[in-house]
Amino acid sequence: MIEAYAVTEPGGKLAPFEYEPAPLGPEDVEIDVQYCGICHSDLHTVRDEWSSVMATTYPCVPGHEIVGKVTKVCSAVTKFKEGDLVGVGCMVDSDQTCPHCQSDVEQFCNSGAIFTYNSPDKHLGGVTYGGYSENIVVDENFVLGVPENLDPAGVAPLLCAGITTYSPIRRWGNIKDKKVGILGFGGLGHMGVKFARAFDAHVVVFTTSPSKKEDALRLGAHEVIISTNSEEMQQHAGSFDFILDTISAEHDINSYLGMLGLDGNLTLVGAPEKPLSISAFALIFGRKSLSGSLIGGIKETQEMLDFCGEHNITADVEVIPIQKVNEAYERMVKSDVKYRFSIDIASLKSE
Ligand SMILES: [Zn+2]
Ligand SMILES: [Zn+2]
Repeated sequence: MIEAYAVTEPGGKLAPFEYEPAPLGPEDVEIDVQYCGICHSDLHTVRDEWSSVMATTYPCVPGHEIVGKVTKVCSAVTKFKEGDLVGVGCMVDSDQTCPHCQSDVEQFCNSGAIFTYNSPDKHLGGVTYGGYSENIVVDENFVLGVPENLDPAGVAPLLCAGITTYSPIRRWGNIKDKKVGILGFGGLGHMGVKFARAFDAHVVVFTTSPSKKEDALRLGAHEVIISTNSEEMQQHAGSFDFILDTISAEHDINSYLGMLGLDGNLTLVGAPEKPLSISAFALIFGRKSLSGSLIGGIKETQEMLDFCGEHNITADVEVIPIQKVNEAYERMVKSDVKYRFSIDIASLKSE
């Protein structure tokens, strides 16, 4: 049996759980999970808070920021071999034939991407189980190579928080010497800062917490704006080329659109629960645009990991044993983590 942590009913806590190993298909790679990051999506899913979009099927084994070692490759696998350090992110399958898959954006697969957990599972029926588990079996086309020079605990969050911020920054174009704003400085925001800095932008963090200023500067920001200080905000009005909005709490988007200059863009990657109220004038004056972004395709995720290897970029993590995962969820809600939890999956075996 595979040892994991699952929530077995709505409102339940994560607790030890066992399931049958998956039968392997010819293109499958079996991975011994070493670290799994904790994403906000994990918490929303186990609590069934996104029931209107994707209801949770219980038991639910979350986790889509996975790093581990390949323990077995099946007959048709060509990209990986036993012992390779690999990653698995938010997706484990798609039809691989539709126009979106063909253009390397499998996350928008017309047949629906198969997510790493709480999605229909082709192996066992039921739903997919994620990385809060000692083992995961994934089609080689959705397995990523992880640079060996990076700390695997800090690599895990790159598989979701990393690609979520990397992809929109790349899509916007060359940000060298451009003024780039990062809204929010948590799991996503701190990665946005690292990437924007690595691409040589002038990086400015917007935060409501003066206590985060020092860390933001240390991790690569050139400036920090305390967004509740209207004088400080006014000084920067109309001066940004691109703003990455990682805030998932309610916030006044119009004041940030006002920070953009001509043809500036604000891209949302955080997902506030309630609809945003947007003034048309905030976009019309200055020909500004507002867009969204969802993770990245497999090709781009590999590009991101290789970039991280070259530039020595990982997430700042607090490593925890899996027995502390419920406590970690409570702390994550209060933003009491710098800046992502990474579960040491070896702790499962100490049960
Ligand atoms: Zn995630
Ligand atoms: Zn497709």
